[in-house]
Amino acid sequence: MMMEILQASRQFVGKYYPRSHLYVAGSVLGLAIVLIAMPGEDKGPVPSNDAQQITIPIPLLDHELQESNELIATINSGKSLIEEIAPQISTWQNFEIKSGDNLSNIFAKVGLSDQDLFRVLNSNKEAEILNNIYPGYQLDFLIPNEGRLEQLRVLKSPLEGYLFTRENNNFKVEEIERAAQLRPAFKVGEITDSLFMAGQRAKIPAAHLMEMANIFGGVIDFILDPRVGDQFSILYDEQYLDGEFIGNGEILATTFINQDKTFTAVRYVNQLGEVGYYSPDGESMRKAFLRNPLDVFRISSNFNPRRRHPILNTIRAHKGTDYAAPTGTPIRATSDGRITRASRYGSFGNLVIIQHAGSFETKYAHLSRFGRGISRGDRVQQGDIIGYVGATGGATGPHLHYEFLVNGVHQNPRTILDKLPKAESIALNEMDRFKNQTEKLLKQFKEYNDSRTLELNQNNAD
Ligand SMILES: [Zn+2]
Repeated sequence: MMMEILQASRQFVGKYYPRSHLYVAGSVLGLAIVLIAMPGEDKGPVPSNDAQQITIPIPLLDHELQESNELIATINSGKSLIEEIAPQISTWQNFEIKSGDNLSNIFAKVGLSDQDLFRVLNSNKEAEILNNIYPGYQLDFLIPNEGRLEQLRVLKSPLEGYLFTRENNNFKVEEIERAAQLRPAFKVGEITDSLFMAGQRAKIPAAHLMEMANIFGGVIDFILDPRVGDQFSILYDEQYLDGEFIGNGEILATTFINQDKTFTAVRYVNQLGEVGYYSPDGESMRKAFLRNPLDVFRISSNFNPRRRHPILNTIRAHKGTDYAAPTGTPIRATSDGRITRASRYGSFGNLVIIQHAGSFETKYAHLSRFGRGISRGDRVQQGDIIGYVGATGGATGPHLHYEFLVNGVHQNPRTILDKLPKAESIALNEMDRFKNQTEKLLKQFKEYNDSRTLELNQNNAD
């Protein structure tokens, strides 16, 4: 279910052309032609020496037409109106690329030959994009005269792509770059059972809820820490093109209040162009270790660990943390390191051990299987999938048994991380830049948060 939502949200690209526009445009234009033609018949021919301009307002059809918002047809005497207008009112044919589509078939569908395709492909180097089309791309064809391609628009997203325009027997190319209009979106949630449900109630896009969990992955264990009454908020931009929603921008700021501890993260693009999330005073949210080895958002949305296996979520005599989770839930390396074991080992079942810098070691037991290509000696990075939850070895039910060792001594992973050195911060010489970029945003975010009680009440009333 969650995956479906995710896929849906990823595929927003290309869905921005409502098909109905096309039909409406077509029928209204037909009407417009009739209306123009009738006065012509009543009042005799249009004077021949001065060309007359007739402006026909039409409904929004596509980018260009939306920009001009009207179609101008120049009417000369001696020719039929239809003949004059027809070449200019031909409509674009739009195709959203789906997996399995091939270029040759799409060209055939609009009545173009492989030769035409070849001609475009060889017109200039930008045409290479046609050799690398992906699902979600959009191809728009303008073919005013049957079989003769006039323009081809290739859109990677609603905002960028190329326009190929016929020039004799070749095609010239222009880059399409459009800027979305941004509208701030502020969402607040309160946990009553699971983070998922809270996110859904608050109408937070699934991808953003997941991203929030990633941002706070070094400070909050999203399986064990959340409590009823915890609150969170997210500020991001919604993107619009010509008044139509086309997608969500990245999270700009987010806060999570976990049992009266408030964590706030703000997006910052550093001098090198790298995007990161930082506390308001410039400490990186990315920590040496993730608080939780499970990829919580791959757990089905109605899974609630506290309800299912409350007993398992305790530190037991065997010196690890047991996370109950369905078989197959992905397990992540909690920090960068080297795999020192990925094999079966007695009551641990399938076991992965990772050696990290600074004499840290983590162990992951009872796996149903190992992550793809995971074997002894491999280097892994924080967040890499190293295996999947199972019940191999001495486990009575599917769960992850997770151990954290410092210099060979078991530590409670729930408390040891608080004793580790602080994460890196913005360098002093970059601090002014950081403040410049984030201060105004954080001020706005605070204002939104201060009015959150109102928002929450509204959400809860839904
Ligand atoms: Zn255990």
